[in-house]
Amino acid sequence: MDDVRDGSPTVFVTDRTSSPLAFPPRPPRRRGLWLLPLLLALALVAGVLVALRQGEQTERLDQREALITDALSVRQQIEQRVDAERQRLKSLAQRIDIQPPTAAVFGSLPEVYEGLQRSWISVTWLDANNRVVAQLPEGPVASRNTASSGLSAHLAQPLANGGSLVVRYSPGVMLRQNVPWWIAHKYDVRLVDTAGAVIASTFEGSIPEDRQSYSLSLVDAMGSDANLELIARDRIKPWYRSLPVALIASFGVLIVLSTAMLRRQMREVLRAEEAWRGEAAWRKAMEDSLNVGLRARDLEGKLVYVNRTLAEMLGYTPQELVGLAPPMPYWPPDTLEATMERHRRNLLGEAPPEGYEAVWCRRDGSRFPVMIFEAPLVDARGNQIGWMGSIIDLAERKRLEEREQRQTELMAHHARLTMLGEIASTLAHELNQPLTAIAGYGAGALNSLERDGGADPVVLRALRRLGEQAAHAGAIVQRIRHFLTRREPELEPCDINAVVRGAVALLRRDLNRANILLDLRLDAPAQPIVADSVLIEQVVVNLVRNAADALTSQDRERRIDVATSLSADGRFVRIDVTDNGPGLNGRRIEQLCAPFYSTKPEGMGMGLAICRSIIEAHHGALDAGEAFGGGARFSLTLPVALIPLAAVERGSDE
Ligand code: ADP
Repeated sequence: MDDVRDGSPTVFVTDRTSSPLAFPPRPPRRRGLWLLPLLLALALVAGVLVALRQGEQTERLDQREALITDALSVRQQIEQRVDAERQRLKSLAQRIDIQPPTAAVFGSLPEVYEGLQRSWISVTWLDANNRVVAQLPEGPVASRNTASSGLSAHLAQPLANGGSLVVRYSPGVMLRQNVPWWIAHKYDVRLVDTAGAVIASTFEGSIPEDRQSYSLSLVDAMGSDANLELIARDRIKPWYRSLPVALIASFGVLIVLSTAMLRRQMREVLRAEEAWRGEAAWRKAMEDSLNVGLRARDLEGKLVYVNRTLAEMLGYTPQELVGLAPPMPYWPPDTLEATMERHRRNLLGEAPPEGYEAVWCRRDGSRFPVMIFEAPLVDARGNQIGWMGSIIDLAERKRLEEREQRQTELMAHHARLTMLGEIASTLAHELNQPLTAIAGYGAGALNSLERDGGADPVVLRALRRLGEQAAHAGAIVQRIRHFLTRREPELEPCDINAVVRGAVALLRRDLNRANILLDLRLDAPAQPIVADSVLIEQVVVNLVRNAADALTSQDRERRIDVATSLSADGRFVRIDVTDNGPGLNGRRIEQLCAPFYSTKPEGMGMGLAICRSIIEAHHGALDAGEAFGGGARFSLTLPVALIPLAAVERGSDE
């Protein structure tokens, strides 16, 4: 409980298992949640590294496969071209064998001419002694074809006369002519001899190390030890070169993810904070509305929190009380030692669990009794950090109890007086006739004796005394009756609902104790009736008490309904007292209202008789019957309008 006003520390109340005020423990699932983004980031980085590495390897393998396939295809094309040249040379040789031309004509042979146009650098005709018969082109061989590569290869074809034809051609030119454009686009292609010297190449300059290459021997194709080498133009980017981009991208994703998580977390925190604020405000309102004082003390007994009720009870402000250590200013000065002793006992945890009574002093010095309940104060981790006390001001309760006691006694006194009056009235009624009879018989006997004469004067005097004593007894009874008779109703406007509420309030405690549910349905209008509210209250009390008596031995639910209503014509108000007890078993109101009729072991049997006389004195009526669904119903009706009551007397008394 955080008191904002006095800034006292947060306090958690006592019972750690059931306290609704203690914060619930954080769910364990969430404790390591903050690590999740880090773990996700690490997993993502590892995943990116592996994926990049694998990507590079796959790319390298794919490129190598394509390289091999393309190299084989190029070699095949070169082989086919060299074969074609070899065939052409062969057919030239055959022509020479069939009809050897002169050296001059040799140059004009179409095969020679076309060959030179195509790719031959030179063609040399040698005789059997390897002497040159003819050579084209004439002079030093420095033609266009050699200029591009500087290196050449040759084809030789033997002649039937033992001579031979030797053709020199440029592998570079052949390479350029036979490498398809798409291969040239993808690869640098070159011919290399076994010593590593470049014979022909589709490009100039050296080749960087980081490009993939593949070489194939052309021994079969060209008859020389040349190798065909394809070098991929595309470099495979090492995986770590793509790392920054991939990482930035993944971190981008991660940032989006963690922002979303953070947003969710923030919302949860805000919601929790809102709930906490609501709870704090609710607690504060609750504490302030309590009429029980609360105080929290630390383990040394220093006050760390007091609620407003306690402060007001003592006449201080909470700020003045918080921080105080024993001896407290509200301890009575004359019992300081005993109070200190009790304080020590409480700090040892030995305060009686059912609470103890003490007397405290207000700021103005006045004393008042309090009831104190002590309980350990624990923090959110379950450690005891002090003591929590709830304090009830007993002064008000005692005052109320005394008032209630006085009222009950007054009512009992009233009831006794009324009953006595009723008894006297009944006795007077009952004794009147025998006394009149005694007086009558006495007078008769006296007359007869006097008429006959000669009667013993002692007897006559005795008879005369008898008549006088009977009359005297009758007068005494009448006098007592007049003295004790019920008082005249003191009529005044009163609210019938308020009268019923007052009667029920007097019995509330007894009904609660007897576990009886009381239902009030006050439907009568607030318009006042003219009646003696004290007497009507007595009637209602009597009827409700009778109903409660009828319910005492009942095991099932005990219930009494008290209802007020206005009659349809608006001339009478009605009070119904209904219970769900054993009912009246066919007994009628006359029997129940007969004086001294009671079925209770200690019953006087005058209650209903008195009720009826009071109601009739108000020109009303009392009725009884079975309640709907079992139980008894007693109903009384009273006129709303004022009726002159000057001559109100019970008919039976007259
Ligand atoms: P007492 O209460 O002293 O017995 P009362 O005149 O008030 O005298 O009641 C007379 C009798 O009427 C009771 O003893 C009881 O048998 C009967 N009676 C009164 N109220 C009820 C009720 N609600 N249910 C059943 N019986 C009742």
